[in-house]
Amino acid sequence: MTAAHGACDTTIRDLAVSVYTVPTEQPEADGTLQWSQTTLVVVEPRAGDLTGLGWSYATGACATLIEDVLREVVVGSDALDVPAVWEAMIRHCRNLGRPGIVSMAVAAVDIALWDLKAKLLDLPLCRLLGQVRTDVPVYGSGGFTSYDEQTLTRQLSGWVHELGIPRVKIKIGESWGSEPGRDLTRIAVARQTIGDDAELYVDANGGYTRGQAVRMAHAMAGQRVSWFEEPVSSDDLPALADIRREIEPDVAAGEYGYDLHYFQRMCAARAVDCLQADLTRCAGITDWLRAAAVAASHGLQVSAHCAPNLHAHPAASIPNLRHLEYFHDHARIENQLFDGALNPAGGDLRPDQGRPGLGLTLDRTAAEPYRRR
Ligand SMILES: [Mg+2]
Repeated sequence: MTAAHGACDTTIRDLAVSVYTVPTEQPEADGTLQWSQTTLVVVEPRAGDLTGLGWSYATGACATLIEDVLREVVVGSDALDVPAVWEAMIRHCRNLGRPGIVSMAVAAVDIALWDLKAKLLDLPLCRLLGQVRTDVPVYGSGGFTSYDEQTLTRQLSGWVHELGIPRVKIKIGESWGSEPGRDLTRIAVARQTIGDDAELYVDANGGYTRGQAVRMAHAMAGQRVSWFEEPVSSDDLPALADIRREIEPDVAAGEYGYDLHYFQRMCAARAVDCLQADLTRCAGITDWLRAAAVAASHGLQVSAHCAPNLHAHPAASIPNLRHLEYFHDHARIENQLFDGALNPAGGDLRPDQGRPGLGLTLDRTAAEPYRRR
């Protein structure tokens, strides 16, 4: 059957998948993980003479899953009925398990379908979803534990003093024992670098125990840290809730949320002051918008996790947005591989009102050296 919008055929005819792996500038690490490269799984569905674009920061296994399992569900569907295609994909993966790779594979397709639908309707995605705001506040995120002091100060200074971003986040969680660790020194360096006015956030990536996290919060009180992300594992909801009651900074978590039940449990446990959600993990824009509704039902704001150019349009459309994480690795890759990447100067991303969809084009020449399949 052929679907149509006006004179335009909206039936999805094809679904191209490619994988790119981009090395980091130097080895990077947080409190609990080290890495030296980042992989994107890029999806391009076609309807009529238009092509959608979406991706997930994941693993090449997602590309296999999309080709072997999801393609048969997506091709032949109507590109205007994104929630129907999303539902069909989720059902089709029932026996594979929803969290993790499945959810990231569905995410890449779902994002590309929203981009395609907006292009078919010749609207910027933020206008298709409906805007609450034109400017999306961001915070600069990096400050890896693997950086030396010069690299750390250069990065933070660039965001705050050159780009005018009034909030930044560094990684901690690598050291805390009987002696105050390197974490405290780096927090002090960060505060000194950004000055008194910018907000300072820290992310332990689950690197502390409950007691360590509370002691750390008290020890860093003089640096006016206002956001303490994943002080302990985000799976330990009772510990997050306990820590929240005992410390001054906001507690945030949620980046490993793959479905609505996860977000619901985290909110209901009163484990966070602000819910993080990542649309490249939680099965795309379709469920990210619902995650924002779950947060709203608990009186919470949402912070969009990483992938800044994918989150900018959806983030412009939810009422309870706090901000978007302008993550160094992803910002660097998106600026390098995509035409139309947004500029955070002044502390906001402003979705381009003059370009349809996400407003992005894959620069195939720039991307080709990193292509794996
Ligand atoms: Mg984090």
